[in-house]
Amino acid sequence: MSSHKHWYPAYVGIGSNLQGPARQIDEATDLLAEIPGIQLFSVSQKYRSAPFGGVEQPDFVNVVAALLTRLAPQDLLGTLQDIEIRQGRERNNIRWGPRVLDLDLLVYSDWKIDEPGLTVPHPGIGERNFVLLPLGEIAPELVVPGLGRVAGIPVNMDEPSVSRIT
Ligand code: ATP
Ligand code: CA
Ligand code: CA
Repeated sequence: MSSHKHWYPAYVGIGSNLQGPARQIDEATDLLAEIPGIQLFSVSQKYRSAPFGGVEQPDFVNVVAALLTRLAPQDLLGTLQDIEIRQGRERNNIRWGPRVLDLDLLVYSDWKIDEPGLTVPHPGIGERNFVLLPLGEIAPELVVPGLGRVAGIPVNMDEPSVSRIT
């Protein structure tokens, strides 16, 4: 696994709608915090949202985690996928279907990456309220390459509404 000498900020979106979503998310953030090469420094509150994409399924719970990492983006993605598998995610081919755990690499420093299997910033950021709300909570001043300051990205009125779980 390649790692840099420097630590880079990165933001990870975490979602679940099966098998105790809130607990799945807590487990995933605990696992992330234990990985050498990752320092977790904040996790948003949990947000509930209606599913997206027309598949009948339970509501999702989402958070965004902020971390510092010395892993290269491809290795960070590999680590995120290992955590998904460890928590029992099955690759069922239903796009936007139900899942125990989904970890997306949203932002990696100020980098733009477009290669097979990895697009950064994640192309859904600007459209998805379940990303914009938690990201805006923990990093309103973050500049997302191509989109600008998080606090300046409008919430989408035609997307499912998202509410913080208190
Ligand atoms: P979406 O990416 O639209 O949220 P999804 O999370 O349901 O959809 P997955 O089935 O989890 O999609 O992942 C499909 C593929 O997306 C992965 O195999 C991975 O290689 C690729 N991918 C590309 N860019 C990213 C990224 N920034 N973060 C996570 N996966 C990515
Ligand atoms: Ca996703
Ligand atoms: Ca994913």
